[in-house]
Amino acid sequence: MRKYEDTYQHKGLRKQLVSLLREKGITDENVLQAINNIARHYFLDPVFDKTAYEDRAFPIGEGQTISQPYTVAYQTQLLQIKKQEKVLEIGTGSVYQSTVLAEMGAWVFTIERQKKLFNTYKDFYFKKKYPNIKFFYGDGFEGLLTFGPFDKILITAAAPHIPPKLVAQLKPGGMMVLPVDEGESQRMLRITKLEDGTFQEESFDLFSFVPMLTGRNG
Ligand code: SAH
Repeated sequence: MRKYEDTYQHKGLRKQLVSLLREKGITDENVLQAINNIARHYFLDPVFDKTAYEDRAFPIGEGQTISQPYTVAYQTQLLQIKKQEKVLEIGTGSVYQSTVLAEMGAWVFTIERQKKLFNTYKDFYFKKKYPNIKFFYGDGFEGLLTFGPFDKILITAAAPHIPPKLVAQLKPGGMMVLPVDEGESQRMLRITKLEDGTFQEESFDLFSFVPMLTGRNG
């Protein structure tokens, strides 16, 4: 049985990570606080116990990764999360990003297309602490029609285009943050749905994500 411990050393490493994220330009205090509060090493294999607080992505199985902390912070900051908002996340992976959103007080609906990852991570360590995360096995391109519309939508895999069904599931005034493919890397976009149903698009930095794939796998 794995023994989970959040030691002073882990907490110290987390503080250093938060300082680094500040230096890299993250300013949303609620995002930084959430990252400071969450034991990221609990989401990773024990071999990454200390390296968990380096600012890098790690393998989580099935060819997938837990996103780099800077990427998690960057996407979350762009979303301007407020307490009680309904947030749809595409790409549950390790549940780390979902936990950051839940720690900030959002209601999180997260979809994973890989059955094995879904089964492994839906029973993650902090399940009882965050009843505001709901897990779904399915294809993120479809969204969650019966649970929408959402205040915010976050895609954590490289999207080939802006998925139209997801735009449709945004509330008026709602926002979607997603990395869209530009060949080698992806451009971070923020889509804001206006009251008249049209949307406004803003573009930000380049990132590198695993691909968003169609259909379920399992
Ligand atoms: N948010 C995750 C990052 C996971 S990496 C974390 O914090 O750990 C991206 C994830 O998106 C992978 O688990 C991959 O299987 C999933 N994914 C890719 N395409 C998808 C789709 N169409 N629908 C749902 N999940 C998808």
